[in-house]
Amino acid sequence: MSNVKEDIEYLIKLVNKDLLIKEKRDILHRNPVKIKEIDEKILELEDKLNEKEESFKKIEKEERHLDSVIKSENDKIKKKKIEENNIKTNAAYRAWEHEMQYLAAKIETHEERMLGVLEMIDKENLELSRFSDEVKVKKDKLMLQKIELEKNIEKSRAELDIIEDEKLRILPHLSKKISREYQRILAAKHDAARANTYGDVCQGCFSRIPPQKAHEVRKNNEIITCEFCGRILVYFQENKKAESYE
Ligand SMILES: [Zn+2]
Repeated sequence: MSNVKEDIEYLIKLVNKDLLIKEKRDILHRNPVKIKEIDEKILELEDKLNEKEESFKKIEKEERHLDSVIKSENDKIKKKKIEENNIKTNAAYRAWEHEMQYLAAKIETHEERMLGVLEMIDKENLELSRFSDEVKVKKDKLMLQKIELEKNIEKSRAELDIIEDEKLRILPHLSKKISREYQRILAAKHDAARANTYGDVCQGCFSRIPPQKAHEVRKNNEIITCEFCGRILVYFQENKKAESYE
């Protein structure tokens, strides 16, 4: 096997490692953003639930208030009723009767309000428990997604270490000339110093390669660089079986 063919063979291995490295780095970059979004969604759900619970507590507070008002008014009526036996004049009796009617009307108003409040409590209680269940289901689902994303971060980090190590082991196999060329392009591009070609397109800069040149690249028997980005072009079928981490 010629040196060039060997170089290209190792370059292809490197491109494959670079593709995997990019995939893992994307996960390490993307998943924390997704986790943050999930945390925000969970907070939003908890806020909404708190809000509903607070408004329910207000109605319950009003119920307790009305209850004590009605009790104290009933007490007043009972006391007033005792006074009845001591009334001496018709005028005093009319005044007493008037007062009794006034107290009864007040109680009636409060009792009507109480009925409304009790109805509201039933309705809101049902709605609150339904919403609370809904929040729980949504939160559980989000938590599972979060755990999955966190697991994938850990997994990708470990895999990245391995792949980068494997890449370092491939590098010494390149001929000195190609290795120098590789280091030079890598320093300039900060990413893959080699690019695969798909059809007639450089996968490093996505420029179209002239058909004749693309044809030569596909033979993988000479070092050809992309005239637009300077990356070394090699040809291979990308392994699309890469696992999904999302
Ligand atoms: Zn290019």
